[in-house]
Amino acid sequence: NYDTLTDRTAVVTGASSGIGEATARALAASGAKVALFARRADKLSDVAAKIVADGGRALAVEVDVTSEESVAAGGAAVREAFGRVDLVVNNAGVMLAAPMADVRVDHWARMIDLNVTGALRVIGEFTPDLLGAAADGGTADLVDISSVAAHQLFPDYAVYCATKAAITHLSANLRAEFGPADVRVTNIEPGVVRSELRTHLDDVQAEGLASWIDTVGLLSSEELADVVAYAASRARHVNLRQIVVMPTRQV
Ligand code: NDP
Repeated sequence: NYDTLTDRTAVVTGASSGIGEATARALAASGAKVALFARRADKLSDVAAKIVADGGRALAVEVDVTSEESVAAGGAAVREAFGRVDLVVNNAGVMLAAPMADVRVDHWARMIDLNVTGALRVIGEFTPDLLGAAADGGTADLVDISSVAAHQLFPDYAVYCATKAAITHLSANLRAEFGPADVRVTNIEPGVVRSELRTHLDDVQAEGLASWIDTVGLLSSEELADVVAYAASRARHVNLRQIVVMPTRQV
């Protein structure tokens, strides 16, 4: 646990499964108040109930980050329950295969609207909170979950990789914009992590990845969550701006 997270006010998107769920639990275990954003209200309630049962503070908020209205309503709900937000973990995302020859405009649109514009909607909603918290002398963090796919090449996943490259470059630019105002920006690029990410692929696509993953192994979502909590718990003037976390055997 990281004591400096005590009484921080966090929002974690995509908190109903995988990395987001584990991150919400890790932040709450270190004493942060955590708002959990995602669409599946039942799963969010389960996660929040477990956090509360473990003595933590959690608020389940049904939010679809592809809707500005939904993100704004989520922002209002967390401020009412917990006050100003000073730690935003932008994690909601989807990975769909889209071999270019298939021209899956639907997959392109879904990934771009969720992975890129969804992240922007969340950043936009909470930028005043982060700047305000830092201006008042507090610690303020934006943590963006990108992927090693931002740099590596994965045939048939070009659009997914492009959305993650966009997030990594967005983080770098926002750090330049926010750093002088004492808001930290941390970009995290995981390698393969055990989660529900691959459940959105069809059987053939999932099988193709599974044989590769067998050779490199998987990180757990909890291992990623620990990296998020570690970065956010550094002294205020220390910004881990770029973190690449991979299974040792993944190259
Ligand atoms: P999961 O599929 O387990 O989690 C994705 C989360 O995003 C879910 O909680 C889902 O909740 C949420 N989500 C999806 N659509 C929306 C939406 N419209 N509004 C709000 N929330 C939404 O996968 P991971 O935990 O693996 O993924 C988390 C992040 O990590 C993603 O950005 C992914 O790209 C990244 N990543 C994952 C890697 C891996 O190997 N697993 C590797 C590198 C990066 P719900 O369906 O309830 O809305």
